Amino acid sequence: MKRTTNPQLDEILGREFSCLDHGFVRLIDYMGSDESIVQAARVSYGKGTKKVRVDRSLIRYLLRHQHTTPFEMVEFKFHCKLPIFVARQWIRHRTASVNEYSLRYSEAHNQFYIPEPEVIRKQSKTNRQGRSSETVPPELQEKVLAILKRHIQQLWKDYQELEQMEIARELARINLPVSLYTEWYWKIDLHNLLHFLKLRLDPSAQHEIRVYAQAIAEIVKIAVPLTWEAFEDYVLHARSFSRPEMELIRNALAQLPSPPNWEEIALSKEFSKREIKEFIKKINNERR
Ligand SMILES: Cc1cc2nc3c(=O)[nH]c(=O)nc-3n(C[C@H](O)[C@H](O)[C@H](O)COP(=O)(O)OP(=O)(O)OC[C@H]3O[C@@H](n4cnc5c(N)ncnc54)[C@H](O)[C@@H]3O)c2cc1C
Repeated sequence: MKRTTNPQLDEILGREFSCLDHGFVRLIDYMGSDESIVQAARVSYGKGTKKVRVDRSLIRYLLRHQHTTPFEMVEFKFHCKLPIFVARQWIRHRTASVNEYSLRYSEAHNQFYIPEPEVIRKQSKTNRQGRSSETVPPELQEKVLAILKRHIQQLWKDYQELEQMEIARELARINLPVSLYTEWYWKIDLHNLLHFLKLRLDPSAQHEIRVYAQAIAEIVKIAVPLTWEAFEDYVLHARSFSRPEMELIRNALAQLPSPPNWEEIALSKEFSKREIKEFIKKINNERR
């Protein structure tokens, strides 16, 4: 039995996808493909896949109905270089394996994240956790950048002085700011990676971690194109409705002079027959 490989993915293995001013994401290794998901779902060995069209609809069915375990059969190992404040958000995703560069053993590098002027924004008035969508004037951008840079070189000099005094690295590092870059190896399966991407590609996620999520998304698209397509349709750009919201929709539909012909409408939108049936059941509040 041959190991699953993806020539397009092999081509980008080890290539740095640059992120922010000094960061990157690169794929170090992978296991599996869209076919592995299909194969696991069919619990078969060897040639478990059928025609691409059939595989595509199975993957779409699995993702749509949250049959998630087949997606755990695909794994990725990334090497990432990222500012510590991004790493703090990222590490909250507990379903991955991580090995981080240790400043107890190794010397820090003189690399700190300084934002691009256009991402410097004021605090959002509507979202307590985010930035305003409006840019700030260039004079203010310059002022902010000067403040952000002001102490970094002094802190770096202090660090080097402590190093020269042969003070233990685990102590010498403690004043370094969270804008300092760190590195890690991050291994995760596709199911948990899609969960990470759903949360961190969202506009509500902080810009800096979103940049990394976007780089990873580029790699995932190449690795599992059918799964990515389904993910975009059923998760990333999908929304769920609460019971009261569903009632609102049904009430509004009931007030139309005649019920919509969903089959006709949906057919023109490239729905599969099964999806149309599922959609009508959802609208009618019937169990599948
Ligand atoms: C926009 C945004 C804002 C955020 N703001 C904050 C904040 O202000 N403060 C803060 O502390 N965090 C914040 N977070 C982090 C957030 O609360 C989650 O910790 C993070 O997104 C990881 O999500 P997760 O736990 O689903 O992922 P993972 O840790 O990868 O877990 C995946 C899934 O596995 C299951 N799981 C994993 N571990 C456990 C467990 N121990 N018990 C039960 N189920 C488990 C859960 O179903 C979970 O959804 C924010 C995240 C985002 C995206």
